[in-house]
Amino acid sequence: MLTDYHVHLRRDEDQSDPRSGPFTPSNAERYREVAADRGIEELGVSEHVHRFVQALEVWTHPFWRRSAVDDLDDYCAFVREETDLRLGIEADYVPGREDRLANLLDAREWDYVVGSIHFLPDGAIDMPGEWDIWRGGNPEKIWARYFETLGEAARTGMFDILAHPDLVKVFADRVPVPGGDLRRFYDRAMDGIAESDVAVEVSTAGLRKPVREIYPAPSFLEMCLEAGRPVALSSDAHSPEELGFQYERALELLSGLGVEQLAVFDRRERRLEALG
Ligand SMILES: [Zn+2]
Ligand SMILES: [Zn+2]
Repeated sequence: MLTDYHVHLRRDEDQSDPRSGPFTPSNAERYREVAADRGIEELGVSEHVHRFVQALEVWTHPFWRRSAVDDLDDYCAFVREETDLRLGIEADYVPGREDRLANLLDAREWDYVVGSIHFLPDGAIDMPGEWDIWRGGNPEKIWARYFETLGEAARTGMFDILAHPDLVKVFADRVPVPGGDLRRFYDRAMDGIAESDVAVEVSTAGLRKPVREIYPAPSFLEMCLEAGRPVALSSDAHSPEELGFQYERALELLSGLGVEQLAVFDRRERRLEALG
């Protein structure tokens, strides 16, 4: 069994009418065909929450205000009624807005919720430009804060999967990664992760990003495994071509750490299936 759950039906910069392309049965079929070719049986989509107008009830960051154009219930109805894909969403953890996010999530029937941290608190971790957190930010402090927030996200219990867990390394080409043993940062997340029931995402998206590494680092994953957390495998594809991107690298990492099962989700129930 191979999975790809953290998948987007279109590119981030694509603002076209969803019914003109992204949210159509023929687009879903393109994803399904490529996934089948690559041996991925369990396929789901997880559009960014900030693309939907309902997200503005949770948070009104200017980037969200600019992005919120689609209707969340139309997306859910499309995936459920016109495709055979699992229905997920990629939702940001915004500290202080837990109740608002819970209202948005609990009102809909997901197969899984992918939790991400893209902003700290307003600064963007993986988006150069206007809100770039790295402009003048101290990497040591940002890393510490990032992993503390990741632990809190796990502890909320609102997420089934923790996405790209060490996203903070994304711009390793231009932002200095703190020196020494990075486990001093991972430790800040680990109590929250250990006390949660969350699955930890292994994402090959990092291989397409400047860092050129899988998310998360092997030592982070090892700590999660020691804490008893299961693994969810995804590519964070934004096009059919990116499905299962360089999974051979992820499978190598997982077998090196003795992982033999993957988390599979159905209506927010998790089970483990043999990997491969
Ligand atoms: Zn993300
Ligand atoms: Zn994503």
